[in-house]
Amino acid sequence: MNFKKKDDLRNKLKGRHILIWGSRMTGIGFSRFVSNNGFKAIGFIDSDFALTGKKVHNLPIYQPNSIACLKKKYKRLVVVVAVSIKEDEIVDTLKGMGMTAGDYVRYSDYCGHFYTIDVSGTCNLKCPSCAHTMSSIKNKKGFMTLDDFKRIIDKVLKENELVTHISLYSWGEPFLHPELNRIIKHAHSMGIATAVSTNLSIASSRQIEKIVKSSPDYLKVSLSGYYPAVYNTTHSGGDINLVKSNLYKLRYFIDKFASSIFVEVNYHLYKNNTGIDLAKMQELCHELEYTISSCYANITPIERLIDYCEGNLDDNTKNFLELLLVSIDKGLEITKPYRNLPCRFLTNQININWDRSVPLCCVCYDSRSSTISNNYLIDSLEEILLNKKNHIQCQKCLEYGFPPYLLGVNQKEWNTEANLNLN
Ligand code: SF4
Ligand code: SF4
Repeated sequence: MNFKKKDDLRNKLKGRHILIWGSRMTGIGFSRFVSNNGFKAIGFIDSDFALTGKKVHNLPIYQPNSIACLKKKYKRLVVVVAVSIKEDEIVDTLKGMGMTAGDYVRYSDYCGHFYTIDVSGTCNLKCPSCAHTMSSIKNKKGFMTLDDFKRIIDKVLKENELVTHISLYSWGEPFLHPELNRIIKHAHSMGIATAVSTNLSIASSRQIEKIVKSSPDYLKVSLSGYYPAVYNTTHSGGDINLVKSNLYKLRYFIDKFASSIFVEVNYHLYKNNTGIDLAKMQELCHELEYTISSCYANITPIERLIDYCEGNLDDNTKNFLELLLVSIDKGLEITKPYRNLPCRFLTNQININWDRSVPLCCVCYDSRSSTISNNYLIDSLEEILLNKKNHIQCQKCLEYGFPPYLLGVNQKEWNTEANLNLN
């Protein structure tokens, strides 16, 4: 294994004031590399207004227009672009600010693959938008063992020069995993930051306490309403009153253990939840000092989108489509000009399921058609990458234009369309 590149990165950062562009998981992971190597980060940059003025690991998050000022203040400033998507866009912005090659670093030049380990292969909810409600798909359910997780981390580190963060979720609910706290602690002991996403409709306070104590670096709470009548239409099987009480508990435990967790409540926008429900949830997040961001809900997985395009959608999903602020057809139209871009789900991510199998990408779900390795521990990274190439599943997906739709590119047009549907 050649670690020269990692040394190159260290040399580039030595004696510089580091500004990290990207304050979510990739940036947070990189900040762990910064502190593990005794370097100095002065803050994060993020264009998302939901994050402005917040702090991650005690470092401030600035808007991009603060860079000029910071450059004057810190003569040896270097911006490290640490994001999983939109890297080219950001580099163009930096160039537009007059920054030259020595002023910024693309983190992806050093960190080739982003890993997701779906430690839980099951969920307690049945959201109509989610793969778990596709009755035609019968994937096995279970949890990754701690021993498998350790062996997987060993292989990940052996096959990559630099891995600074891992997401511990894909389709499953990680808070159901009885040993999630030990999984998080193990990743940290290997110098890797962790991201967890949860519906937080979890009845065990003890489990929440244990997880907060283990201090995942990033914790996303996904929800879609404040009152049960609205929430239940889109997060079916969950209990929003339980979620709200857990948001309080989360704050209590974070303060009690002085945990450094960046909590982001991600509010899925539908036609029926943008009024009082959204306002009340914003108020609650403000009170508890959580970041709240929103996204337009869409339909997953790829298999369901194919069913839609081929006229095979089940009746439940058909009725649910009425709630979307941006219809599938409109979303596909908005993102049509971006179909020729390389699929980001294919190029820089490796997903590993709870049972060690490897799916083609994070938006395919059916194990019968999307498995590219039955055992991550046996197949080499090269073999796995090879199996991704020209996969039959990609042909239809690309033909229909799903990757830019699922990434929500061209947000300006999404906003315009959503506003039209709200007025
Ligand atoms: S909570 Fe998340 S993983 Fe579970 S069914 Fe809903 S969308 Fe899917
Ligand atoms: S083209 Fe579609 S199926 Fe293939 S990796 Fe990208 S998102 Fe997944």
